[in-house]
Amino acid sequence: MEANRFGPILLIPIEIKWILPAKFKGLSQTCITRAESAGSIPARRVRRLFSFQRHLLSSRLLRGAPHLNPLHILDEDYCGQAKCMLEKVGSWNFDIFLFDRLTNGNSLVFLTFNLLNQYGLIELFQLDMVKLRRFLVLVQEDYHNQNPYHNAVHAADVTQAMHCYLREPKLAQSLTSFDILLGLLAAATHDLDHPGVNQPFLIKTNHYLAALYRNTSVLENHHWRSAVGLLRETELFSNLPAEDSLSIERQLGSLILATDISRQNEYLSRFRTHLDENDLCLGNASHRHFVLQMALKCADICNPCRPWELSKQWSEKVTEEFFHQGDIEKKHKLEISPLCDSEANTIASVQIGFMTYVVEPLFAEWARFSDTRLSQTMLGHLGLNKASWSAMEPEASGSSEEGESEPGRKQGSKRCLF
Ligand SMILES: [Zn+2]
Repeated sequence: MEANRFGPILLIPIEIKWILPAKFKGLSQTCITRAESAGSIPARRVRRLFSFQRHLLSSRLLRGAPHLNPLHILDEDYCGQAKCMLEKVGSWNFDIFLFDRLTNGNSLVFLTFNLLNQYGLIELFQLDMVKLRRFLVLVQEDYHNQNPYHNAVHAADVTQAMHCYLREPKLAQSLTSFDILLGLLAAATHDLDHPGVNQPFLIKTNHYLAALYRNTSVLENHHWRSAVGLLRETELFSNLPAEDSLSIERQLGSLILATDISRQNEYLSRFRTHLDENDLCLGNASHRHFVLQMALKCADICNPCRPWELSKQWSEKVTEEFFHQGDIEKKHKLEISPLCDSEANTIASVQIGFMTYVVEPLFAEWARFSDTRLSQTMLGHLGLNKASWSAMEPEASGSSEEGESEPGRKQGSKRCLF
């Protein structure tokens, strides 16, 4: 019976990418990759090449020739500076962009491996090193590096933030090793194979994923199913009892689906009610899971709570991705999604709306739950960053006198992200 519940997972080919109906043929090239669109190789063929590379990679690995692969996770001499940085992996000022450069674009693999090792999870769950390494490499490869924002560096950043939250006293005292494993895996895979456009775009272009998931949490379902596909492909948990590995897949889904920003209010009001009634009992597995969901949601949108130099870079990247979507919509005479029109929005206006209506309410509740120095630091950065953007765009600040324009901006902020 359990197998039936997960049956549909098997029907989703991991390599299917971004195939649009004929009437939007011109879009597919643009959406898949701007870098590729400059050349003559069709994007789908490029994906097949990736797949072939994967096959070669794993064959070499299994034949015992790991030196052919550029990643040396266990080597003593791998990137000294990156290793130094990992000693401060729990710092809120951790510069993931620098870490990504030092690891030659492999931040997600290095960081996740290091954290799993640091928590003793590799030993505890007796994870096979070759399988784990392959799984992490495949996860990293399945992020689209051409996306300005939803790429492997974002996943690495969310994983690092998740680690910071897992170390918070309330969580550290109550979470089990299983919870920590799930939290880190969910963070690393939560945007897997993200196409760089949002759900409304997929719906209005009749993308097959929108039909497959009936226009509901389309991207999040795809991220989850892609992650499950990689877990099964690499047999990472084949040493665990079948019910445990199915439980990991199911809970991974529940965590990733919680990152759907359109369900923000649902999670936030449930969190608020628990805090008002002071009835969160972290000895209870379902309460711990709910807290993990909230932690992942915070990690996913914590960019505005980082120090300005980091936060600003993320703001520029996410807006670039929005505007790129808007440009495609414009080009194909589709309705331009909220926040995606580069002529009607600025980075500052997008950020101020996002901070005011999405980030601040969430982090205010998180700080009630986990009243720590980290929470205060995050709220401090959030306030300062918002002030910096407001100084650049005074008319877009929350105190605008244009009463009519605010609700629209509020709605737009909630609908357009992810
Ligand atoms: Zn994300």
